[in-house]
Amino acid sequence: MDATRCVNCTQPMQLVALAGHYGRGVDVDMCGPCRLVWFDNLESVNLNGPGTLQLLRAIDAQRGELLNALGGTDLPCPRCTARLKVVRDLVSHGPVGRLECPRGHGALQTFSQLLAEKGLVRPLFRPEVEQLQRSPATGLVFHCVNCGAEFDPRVREACSFCGSPRLVLDLQRILHALDRQTGVVDSSVGGPPRQVQFTCMHCGGAIDAARERRCSHCAMPIAVTDVAEVLRLIEPYAAKIESGEAAPAHRAVEVAEVSDGRPHLLPMGLERNPLGPPWWVYAFCAVVAAGAGLALVRCVPLV
Ligand SMILES: [Zn+2]
Ligand SMILES: [Zn+2]
Ligand SMILES: [Zn+2]
Ligand SMILES: [Zn+2]
Repeated sequence: MDATRCVNCTQPMQLVALAGHYGRGVDVDMCGPCRLVWFDNLESVNLNGPGTLQLLRAIDAQRGELLNALGGTDLPCPRCTARLKVVRDLVSHGPVGRLECPRGHGALQTFSQLLAEKGLVRPLFRPEVEQLQRSPATGLVFHCVNCGAEFDPRVREACSFCGSPRLVLDLQRILHALDRQTGVVDSSVGGPPRQVQFTCMHCGGAIDAARERRCSHCAMPIAVTDVAEVLRLIEPYAAKIESGEAAPAHRAVEVAEVSDGRPHLLPMGLERNPLGPPWWVYAFCAVVAAGAGLALVRCVPLV
């Protein structure tokens, strides 16, 4: 089958396979220069850890290529040429748009819309913007998550080049999405933590992203716009994420949760049911039962 052609620049798109939960993956067509993704399906796929890693790598691989700004929303479906229609979905931080074929052939999204739909980006919080306005880090550079163009987040709410809103990668959510099955990125179970130095966007201070989720100098959450930065933190764990191999401590917690619905450290059967009566109720009942039994034996005439 011929490669799908990008409806914005007419160049062939790159086919990328993304792994999903329960073996339900999805093949998408990506155009790097336009930062667009085409799905041959309107159903959203729940990406698993390896699928999320594949998506981040694919987005990073398209970085630096010549960029064609999205030519408006008046674009044809690559399958039937019908005009795509704008559809808005509500995600954790507000509505996210995409273009859909009216005949159901599929949907077109920008990279940042796809990241937003998967919950992997967040808007800059108001205190963060205020902090940047008050005392910006020297040499503050803010890049658009979608196209990589530079813009000033203190005065603009969206990228003037591609129109993508003022978003940053949500490191916490990304690590959770990658780590759900394996627990290898979680330093509490994945062995000795490494040092991964990030520069705080807000104050310019150093952050150890392998241990800290906030800047210890200005208390602002880690804000990154470059997927390559996030990959720098994740790549050492990539082989384990891809194999789906769980860290021993993570597996132990999972087994316990599957066994009785909650994590615990006692062997099965030895732990007390938290909703049951305390031990002395059982002891009291045993004494009463023994007494009643004795009385009964005494009352019944022996034959
Ligand atoms: Zn294109
Ligand atoms: Zn169509
Ligand atoms: Zn942009
Ligand atoms: Zn800081």
